[in-house]
Amino acid sequence: MRFAGKRAVVTGGASGIGRATALRLADEGASVIVADIDGEAGAALAAASGGRIAFRHTDVTRADEIEALMQAADAAGGLDIVFNNAGAGGAREPIDQLSPDDWDRTMALLLRSVALGIRYAAPLMARRGGGAIVNTASVSALGAGYAPTAYSTAKAGVLHLTKIAAADLAAAHIRVNAVVPGFITTAIFTRHLDIEGARREQADGMIAGAAAKAQPIPRAGRPEDIAAAVAFLASEDASFITGTHILVDGGLTIGTRASW
Ligand code: NAD
Repeated sequence: MRFAGKRAVVTGGASGIGRATALRLADEGASVIVADIDGEAGAALAAASGGRIAFRHTDVTRADEIEALMQAADAAGGLDIVFNNAGAGGAREPIDQLSPDDWDRTMALLLRSVALGIRYAAPLMARRGGGAIVNTASVSALGAGYAPTAYSTAKAGVLHLTKIAAADLAAAHIRVNAVVPGFITTAIFTRHLDIEGARREQADGMIAGAAAKAQPIPRAGRPEDIAAAVAFLASEDASFITGTHILVDGGLTIGTRASW
């Protein structure tokens, strides 16, 4: 119960990593507001949560909606934890075919949203003595081979923004860190592989097959694997940790050993 009496906002909390994290924080005692554009899934999660999770329809590409979200959370009793996590695949074109509009849309969804989430939460957290912010990056921020150009660049921006914000907000007792997922079985990933709609065990099996060739830990990553890392970073267990990230990728980025 590391979050008893704490209040958290989770963007993109209606599905995948955000959903698992909202449930994990709630299981450990937090009151959680899930913010998402998927009203149906968000409302269903809230209804099944026994009052621990509330849903607020929020489009994180809209500054006014992010500001209203943070204000509402603060007005409901304070804002201790923010998980800036909402996202989608974004532009898939390579650099020499990029569409300027797709680039802007991807940056707005994946990077500007995180900057604004921090921007509107930080003053409210500071007024109440501090807080913890966690942002979702991606292994695509660390290497060229994992995702398209705009997505990867936005996620690299999230990692750098995490450091800048951590330095700027430390005096206000606000810690800012990131989580870096590898390949995790969620809608975003199964959509990318064109296996959206596959049953979870089926999708896990397909991803584990691919992972076995690339990852030292040859299983599919689960949303719960990421939720555990986010919960740690958001908790007092991480009170001396700021401006960094936890890589949760089954070893993908170190790769498997070559057999000679
Ligand atoms: P998901 O599709 O299961 O969940 C994403 C959620 O974000 C959905 O509920 C969606 O409705 C919401 N969302 C999309 N656009 C939004 C908007 N404009 N405003 C508010 N909510 C919006 O996918 P996921 O894998 O859980 O993705 C969560 C985060 O993890 C994303 O930032 C993604 O880039 C990142 N990530 C995922 C993986 C992976 O393999 N699954 C790997 C690295 C990083």
